[in-house]
Formats: sequence, C-alpha cells, structure tokens
Amino acid sequence: MPELPEVEALAGFLRERLVGRVVDSVEIGAISALKTYDPQPGALRGLSVTALHRHGKFIDLDADGLHLIFHLARGGWLRWNDTAVKTMLKPGKSPLALRVRFTPRLDDEDDESTPGFDLTEAGTKKRLAIYVVKAPGQVPGIATLGPDPLAESFTQEVFAGILRGQRQQIKGLLRDQSVIAGVGNAYSDEVLHVARMSPFAIAAKLDDEQVGTLYEALQNTLRSAVSAASGKPAKELKDAKRAGLAVHARTGQECPVCGDVVREVSFADSSLQYCATCQTGGKVLADRRMSRLLK
Ligand SMILES: [Zn+2]
Repeated sequence: MPELPEVEALAGFLRERLVGRVVDSVEIGAISALKTYDPQPGALRGLSVTALHRHGKFIDLDADGLHLIFHLARGGWLRWNDTAVKTMLKPGKSPLALRVRFTPRLDDEDDESTPGFDLTEAGTKKRLAIYVVKAPGQVPGIATLGPDPLAESFTQEVFAGILRGQRQQIKGLLRDQSVIAGVGNAYSDEVLHVARMSPFAIAAKLDDEQVGTLYEALQNTLRSAVSAASGKPAKELKDAKRAGLAVHARTGQECPVCGDVVREVSFADSSLQYCATCQTGGKVLADRRMSRLLK
C-alpha cells in the first residue's frame, strides 16, 4: 500500500504533468469504487486542473473547485500514460477502476500531448475509493484525518500531546489515520525500528526522551522516504519504497543494523515486522500464528 511518501511523490508527479490541462474524460470501470453519486464524474469534463494536493494517503485533483479524490488502499495503483489509452472501459471486465484523459496544455500552443492515468486494483478485496466532491472535507476519511506529520505545525510538543494519555500500543497509534495522517503499516514498522522501540510499547508510558527519539525517527524516516520517492515516475515508486525498508515485509531476512533475523507478529488482517535485538532487548514477541503452528 502506498503511504505518505509514495502518495506525496505521486501528487508531485501528477501536479507537474496535469496543472494547466483540461479534463477530457473520466470513466469509471469499477462502480463499487465510486463512493459519491453527486456530482457525477462527468461533471469534471471541461474543467481545468488547478492544483494537486495530498491529504494523508488521499490524492486530491482540484479542477476549478471540483475535486476528484482517490485513495489507493492496499491493492490499488496509478498507471500513467503519456498518451491516454483511447479504448473505452468495459465495466467489471478488468482491474481498471478509473480512467481519466486530459487535453494538451492550455499555456503551450505547441503541446499536442493528450496524457491520462488509470487507477488499477489487484486482489479480491476491493477497497480503492474514488470521490467527486465540492470540498475535500466531504470525504469522510479526510474529515477525520489527524495532523500531517510533515506539516510545519507538527512539532515535538504536538506529537507529545498526541501520545499523552493514550493507553494504546504505539504501533496501532502510529498507523491510526485519525491520530496521524499518512503513516501505515510499513512506515510504522520502520519508524519503530529506527527508534529502537517495541511495537507493543504503550504510548502514554513513553518518557520525554523516548518521545523525542520517536519524533526524530518519524520525521527522519518519512522525510528520507519522501526524498527517495520524489521525482520518480509512478511506476518506479513501489520498488523505491521496497528498497528503503529495513524490517517491513522482510521477515526472515537480516536486520541491516545488527544482523539479527527480522521477526514477525501476524494478525487476522495484517502483520508487523521488527528486530528483537534492536527493539525489544532480544525478547521475541508472541505470535499467535507461530504458536499455533508449534502446537
Ligand atoms: Zn536489528
């Protein structure tokens, strides 16, 4: 799943290519992915792209005040086409959820390019979500977003205030979109590894020094992932993300810091990875699936 750094890079990629163009057509391939019915996607046609924003893991294409917003979820991705595909979508017949085409740039009369992008979704659990709204706040997942960790206003004091009084495990807290916007399963694993902190540590019990360490880890991890991803074409972002991960999705491999094996704790719907030597003083965390296998 793309998280803050990849979504930030995608928004930048689209901004560079789309601001100043007019929406030529919007086709929905997966009706279930469209979460709004008024205004209709067709209302975007003829409007010019004025801005591209990121809200947490959402991308917001602003066309003259009407917003095409999407969340790629776990299996979704954006495919950019320098020349938009002309064929019409056949609803239900492909992994294509959305196809948008654009006109040549208005501010460049030599421009004849007609680019576009597709949103695709792999897998059986369809969670990719598309919205057409008059204001981003009308998207429920945006209305409830916590602060953006890369915003200037997100200081260590703000972060400490978020953690204070939270009886929750830090891993779950970091990836809760209503607490902090944009961090998911992958970067929460990475941040905790950098901070040398157990995923099961209780947020409220962290002392000032630990909060400072975690804040630094959050900032550094996200900022270096953003700079690794920015400027990369959409199709290279997945590999760029994978290459930057030290523990996430690397169960059984060597921890790049200490050489211990990367371990996993699995849950019904996800799993987390960590290094026992770096993060839990060598203690191996209980894993329900592992203990079931050993019985
Ligand atoms: Zn380690």
